[in-house]
Amino acid sequence: MIVMKKITNPKIEELVLACLKKKSFEQALGIVMFEEIRLETGRPPDKIVITPKYMNDLQILEKIFSFTPSQKECLTESQLLEYKCVAGMMFLLKQRKGNKWFNEIHNGDHPARSPLILRQFLNAGFRSSALNRYGSNSDIVIGVEILGVDDACEECKKIARKQYKLADAPDLPYEHCTNENGCRCCYAPLVAGEKYSFN
Ligand SMILES: [Zn+2]
Repeated sequence: MIVMKKITNPKIEELVLACLKKKSFEQALGIVMFEEIRLETGRPPDKIVITPKYMNDLQILEKIFSFTPSQKECLTESQLLEYKCVAGMMFLLKQRKGNKWFNEIHNGDHPARSPLILRQFLNAGFRSSALNRYGSNSDIVIGVEILGVDDACEECKKIARKQYKLADAPDLPYEHCTNENGCRCCYAPLVAGEKYSFN
């Protein structure tokens, strides 16, 4: 596995944040990939190649930006966008500079700062990405089991420990979850060759 050097150039951060704010995901991703290759090889790349990782990253960004957290009633549109952008920055730059980016993007009345809400956006991206990855290995992974947590809400308990074919798996975080801190269910892959009782 290649460990990429982290992007620390504030100019690049600024550019990526501006792209996310406009929801120009491909542009944001392109800037990050370009800079990562430049840091790794010491020179700018001739072009950005669209790889499966690129497509997966793009899908995670889209998921983060389309996600609605459980506290949506208390959040304004601009606060929602602030959370999405900061979660997107953390995902793309793989750094925990949430406070710094919140400060840079904040333009509403009340700053959006809850780590619990921020975590829900990141969870949404990573969980859909897991399901996507299983889908691209569907010869081996034929379904998923939903893993709940001990203090899961009543709605999540209904899907916990149930087995689903990939195409039928409920989206996580679960849309009917009533936990005020968001759904913490996750997927466990079911590999081919065993007997399952699909829902
Ligand atoms: Zn729940």
